[in-house]
Parts: sequence; structure tokens; C-alpha cells
Amino acid sequence: MIPYGRQSIGAADLDAVKGVLESDFLTQGSAIPRFEQALAKTVGAAFGIAVCNGTAALHLACMALDIGPGDRVWTSPLTFVASANCALYCGASIDFVDIDLTTGNLSVECLRQRLASSSSAGTLPKAIVLVHYAGRPAGRAEIAALAQQYGVALIEDAAHALGAEDELGPIGNGEGSSATTFSFHPVKIITTGEGGMVMTNNSALAERMRRLRAHGVERELASLDYEGGGDWYYEQQELGFNYRMTDIQAALGISQLDRLSGFIARRREIALRYIERLNGLPIGLPTDMSDAEGRHAWHLFVIQVADRARVFAGMRQAGIGVQVHYLPVHLHPYYRKRFAFDEGDFPAAEAFYQKAISLPIYPDLTEDEQNYVVQTLEQLI
Ligand SMILES: *Cc1c(COP(=O)(O)O)cnc(C)c1O
Repeated sequence: MIPYGRQSIGAADLDAVKGVLESDFLTQGSAIPRFEQALAKTVGAAFGIAVCNGTAALHLACMALDIGPGDRVWTSPLTFVASANCALYCGASIDFVDIDLTTGNLSVECLRQRLASSSSAGTLPKAIVLVHYAGRPAGRAEIAALAQQYGVALIEDAAHALGAEDELGPIGNGEGSSATTFSFHPVKIITTGEGGMVMTNNSALAERMRRLRAHGVERELASLDYEGGGDWYYEQQELGFNYRMTDIQAALGISQLDRLSGFIARRREIALRYIERLNGLPIGLPTDMSDAEGRHAWHLFVIQVADRARVFAGMRQAGIGVQVHYLPVHLHPYYRKRFAFDEGDFPAAEAFYQKAISLPIYPDLTEDEQNYVVQTLEQLI
């Protein structure tokens, strides 16, 4: 089976992991801060807080922004459930803003209208979780300006978009947002097995997220509420979690990060080749970005086909592990039952979903494998 995405593990990755396994610290050692600093430098953020997965990163960002009961959070319906679940973990309510059919990203026009009407009604959200769908930057400059105009916080869910850039620079540099989260699940741009990181330029938010990552426990003398009277002393100041990453994972993350630009270049090469080879077929294709617009990270290559069920089944039958990204979040049974969402609520996201198929795209996909994907698709269309 050719999967839609998979990790690329090299000799340096194996050495890095082995090195930690032979060292004194498997967790809470020096690899974590080294990984945090390396990624912060790569994306141009002041701080990075490594955590056990991308979902934990989103949860910490919401908690650090004091999102809680009575607050509203908005996100795109065309995303993985974690982009919405993070608000629910905090007791907030969730709503969605429909997408732009050409990119799969949140529609700036829909957002503009919803902000205006919600402002009049006094129902503005406390935060927006902005998803850079498939690795394509989601109009951050315009959306950040709108968010600022209405006093709404912005969290970027950049699980797809490590290595992407827009006119404000690398995704993750925090231009216009309070926090940006990454995921290092094996299908994402770089991997640590499971893992994630939340980036911010705000030192108070960074300190809070660091504390919440480890049970809400504080050890720094200057930050203690009480004087403990000894080096053994630590105190829990608020309710946090064990969301730590291990040093084994962080060492893998450091060596993976060394290959980031190569990974992105290879993904782009595959995407451009798909676009060239599939151009004549009656299917919808994603587009690349010009150098002036920025850089697409090409986490996903999502095409639009009329007869999706048949094409999907045919591809799977041929040993090609195509996927669908995503069933819109509001149509999951949990969301329908709890919030009374229904079909028709976000028509663009639903129309996108109806025709969407994600083709294999990952650095180690061979030319032969890609040819096979293209030929199989041609036969089915
Ligand atoms: C993968 C993903 C996440 C969650 O990341 P995990 O590391 O799997 O917890 C969040 N949002 C989006 C859009 C994702 O694709």
C-alpha cells in the first residue's frame, strides 16, 4: 500500500535517538530545550514549548489565553477535530466560519461578515483558531487585522504548515497571532513519533504554558508563591497536565528539523508534478503559491473529483492509500448531537468534502510510485 503520507527516517535520526537512549536522561533532559530553541529559531518565534502532541499544544494555547466557560471560539469546519476540541476542553463553546472553496482555508469574506454581525449582537468570540489547510497559509495578515479590529485573539493551528511562509514571513513567527501550534505526528512535515510544539512571542504566555505542561507546578525561586526553604521545594499553582515530550522524541525532532528545507522542496516537487500530469483531467487541482505570495508546505495534495466514492474505492483497490481530509467537524455525531449542527450549515466546507481525495505526498514517495498513482487515477476518471 502506498500511503497518503509517511515519515522519512534517516541514519542521522537513528543516531540521534540512540544517543539519548544511551544518555542519563530519557525525559526532562537537555534535548527538549535544544529542540525548542532550534524550532523557535527556524520559524522566527521567541519561545517554543514542546509537548506530547499537537492537540496538547492547542489545549495549552487556549488555556493560557484564559479561554473558559462562557467564551466562544471559532474555527474552520474543514479541519481535524482537534482544532475545535481544544475549545471544548476549556469549557468554551465552538462555532465555525465557512471556507473558501478554492483553497480550503477559512473564507476571509465570511469571517468579515460574521465578525460584523456578532459584534452588533454582542456575541464576538474570544479567539479564532486559524488552520493553514494542507500547508497553504490562510491569509494571516488580513485575518490578524480583522481579529485585532474586533479584539479577538488569534491562535494558528499550523499542524500542516511547518515550513510554510506568507507575506509576514514563516508560519510560526507569531506575526499577528498569540500562539502557533505544530504537530509532529508521522504524517506531518517532520516527526517525533507523537509530538507537538506551541510557539509564542509573549513571555508571560510562554511561562504559563510551560507551567501548564507540567501539572501547573512551579520550581523557579522568583516565581514561587511561598518560600519553600530548600532546593527540594516545588509548588502547584494551578491545575495543569503532564503534556511533556520525551528527550528521545526531542532528539529525533532536532535531527528531523535539519532536513526541513529538503522535505519542503521534495513535497513541492511532487505537487508540481501532480499538477502538470493531472492538468488535462476533469478534476479540481490545488495551485502552488508564487514566490511573492509565500510558500506552500504541501502537507496534503487534495484533488476534487465528481464521483468520489467510486474513485476512492478504485484507488484503494489498486493499493493506493488515499484519504479524505476532512469530514467537516460540525457533521461529526458528537458535534451534531451536542450543538445541533446539521447538513447545510457550512455549505462550502460540505461541498469541498463531498469531492475531496488526498493523493499520496511525502518526501520518500518515488517517481515510479507517483507515476502509478497518476496512471491509476487516469484510468478511473
Ligand atoms: C494533526 C493535526 C492536529 C493534532 O495533532 P496531533 O499531534 O495528532 O495531536 C491538529 N490540527 C490539525 C489541523 C491536524 O492536522
